[in-house]
Amino acid sequence: MTRAFNFSAGPATLPETVLRQAQAEMLEWNGVGASIVEISHRSADFMAVAAQADADLRTLIGIPDDYAVLFLGGGATTQQALLPLNFAAPGQRVDYVLTGHWGKTAVKQARPYVDVHIAASSEAGGFRDIPAPAQWQLSNDAAYVHITANETIHGVEFRDVPDVGGVPLIADFSSSIASEPIDVSRYGVIYAGAQKNLGPVGITVVIIRRDLLERAGQPRADIFDYRSHVARDSMLNTPPTWNWYLAGLMFKWMLAQGGVEAFARLSQAKSALVYEAIDNSGGFYRNDVAAAVRSRMNIPFFLPDDELNARFVSESKRAGLLALKGHNAVGGIRASLYNAMPLEGAQALAAFMRDFQRRNG
Ligand code: PMP
Repeated sequence: MTRAFNFSAGPATLPETVLRQAQAEMLEWNGVGASIVEISHRSADFMAVAAQADADLRTLIGIPDDYAVLFLGGGATTQQALLPLNFAAPGQRVDYVLTGHWGKTAVKQARPYVDVHIAASSEAGGFRDIPAPAQWQLSNDAAYVHITANETIHGVEFRDVPDVGGVPLIADFSSSIASEPIDVSRYGVIYAGAQKNLGPVGITVVIIRRDLLERAGQPRADIFDYRSHVARDSMLNTPPTWNWYLAGLMFKWMLAQGGVEAFARLSQAKSALVYEAIDNSGGFYRNDVAAAVRSRMNIPFFLPDDELNARFVSESKRAGLLALKGHNAVGGIRASLYNAMPLEGAQALAAFMRDFQRRNG
């Protein structure tokens, strides 16, 4: 069995070299006589792995020293609930901009704690665009503004950092972190589940401008308090050590590939191949997202009817192109092109699309 090109939206494909290293080290790691999943997170050996992952992520993303970096369990969804608890007073106004499904989950997690104001939404148009920032109805007294940098289901991606004045901008980068350079200093908080561009599911990266940790926030247990996690270097309780190690291997792999500049070029090239196959199909394939905000990471598209969508999914699978079925919320097809997807994967998909159209168009 050879490895197929895996277009899963997450958990997603990982580089073969990373998997092989993890495989080679599974039974015995680093001369300690045990696997890394069998040793204490407080052992010097594991602490070194954790510190190296932190240093490598800082280099990879370009994270300034006045930002804390956390490696936490709980996924991006948990952070969506912790944001209002840590950065807003009870019932305080917070602004959310909705450009797809995941912005809505962020709102759902925040609502019990704060006065959520939808400053802008493209939902009425089916989440096919990003409302122009000049039109956003931002509140004067908002604790923060929340955006989703890349909407994994709707395939809509911010291409510029919106100017929200002096209010901290919080961004969910789960499906696009490390795919191009970002100016971290423009954000108050960046968070991302690892299971797309950063490695395995089970660990979430949270990057917080340190002055925001001074905010009183709301009554909350220690385990929900970012300050406590920062004070204990993300080891307030037992962290997901295996996931942290695997993410660390991914950071090293991404640095060796040339870092975020290299992935920006690669993402551009891969997504262009698929969008070209869509746009040159004479309407056989359709992607309805406004050209300026089409995602480089997740490309949803549709064939003329559901029967063809289903045939495309089953035939592509037989051709070694996995997990192209669209999310249930929108249907159709979705191709996810994260950092570990090689150019050859996008080439194979584009070629398959042209061939499928020839046979079925
Ligand atoms: N935000 C975005 C943009 C996502 O794509 C996802 C998961 N696909 C989530 C949040 C939720 O992440 P998790 O399942 O890690 O809680």
